[in-house]
Amino acid sequence: MMAGVKHRQASGLRPTVVSAGRGVLRRMTHAVVFPAVEACNAGLFRMAGLLLRMRPVRLVPSGSDRVLVLAPHPDDETLGCGGTICRHVISGDQVCIVIVTDGGKSRAGGLNRETMIEMRREEARDAMSALLDSTSNALGTHGAGGLRLVQLGLPEGEWNEQELAQHLGKLLEEFRPTIVYSTLRVDFHPEHLRVAAGFAKALSSSAGTYVERVRAYELQVPLTPMLANLISPVETTQQCKQEALAAYRTQSGSFLWVPRHNRYLRALYRSEGALELFWEMGPRQFVALHANEGIAVVHNFRSIRLRPFTDLAAWMVGIGKRRALRRLVDRNASP
Ligand SMILES: [Zn+2]
Repeated sequence: MMAGVKHRQASGLRPTVVSAGRGVLRRMTHAVVFPAVEACNAGLFRMAGLLLRMRPVRLVPSGSDRVLVLAPHPDDETLGCGGTICRHVISGDQVCIVIVTDGGKSRAGGLNRETMIEMRREEARDAMSALLDSTSNALGTHGAGGLRLVQLGLPEGEWNEQELAQHLGKLLEEFRPTIVYSTLRVDFHPEHLRVAAGFAKALSSSAGTYVERVRAYELQVPLTPMLANLISPVETTQQCKQEALAAYRTQSGSFLWVPRHNRYLRALYRSEGALELFWEMGPRQFVALHANEGIAVVHNFRSIRLRPFTDLAAWMVGIGKRRALRRLVDRNASP
């Protein structure tokens, strides 16, 4: 009888001890292992920066440009070029942000599709207000340039390039942008790839006549020094970017990679302040880059994931492919 009681006590204790042990291990991993791996990666990026000594052109907004920013999902515009958007507005440029999809496929927080769409729409508006407020504060008055938000609301996962090309064709005719920020085919996300392809289609029509430069921005797949040729120091607008990012409340759990990415860029380009990188090219080059059929289903690249263990792989996987794409763009340079 006594032995039976002891046995029950021991088996009741074991799960508690095991789960407490797991908790300690998890906290240790977060407090020690992840930061150690990240510091190690940052050290390697610093060494690579010293060896490569890259000097990409520094982005300086003109104050007289019309700037269109294409974001596949609500948050991509802020993640990819939020600090640079603020710089454009402060300089006096007119900026129009176009968010293509409704972001309804996200299941963050267990929200259903309708609620998610509604919340992300609201979050995008809040993020734009945060960008505008911050630029107003920087100027001590209202922003010098304008910032306009267009949410196309295409149902995520259920739209095609042709549909987007038609929407963008109208927008290009109406807004007449001189600079366009876009995703590109160096990505892993099908919707990011499809936006790039749809934009290339619109750009190849007469609607793209006014576009002088296309700047491809990076999200979770790094451009790497192989492709990045334009650097935007965003130290002075980093706060503005962070406030806009904080507006995307439903997505906050998916931003764990962002601080590490920022740290690696600072190490690689030996910069004290935050940076955003772009691959700038002419419209003809962007069209040529996306001319091949079937790019939306090709996954050649690796993303920076939530944990730091495979961060370096995001820069290494697909080097040959990046080289081939750069050659393709170089071949299509204007004479
Ligand atoms: Zn996205």
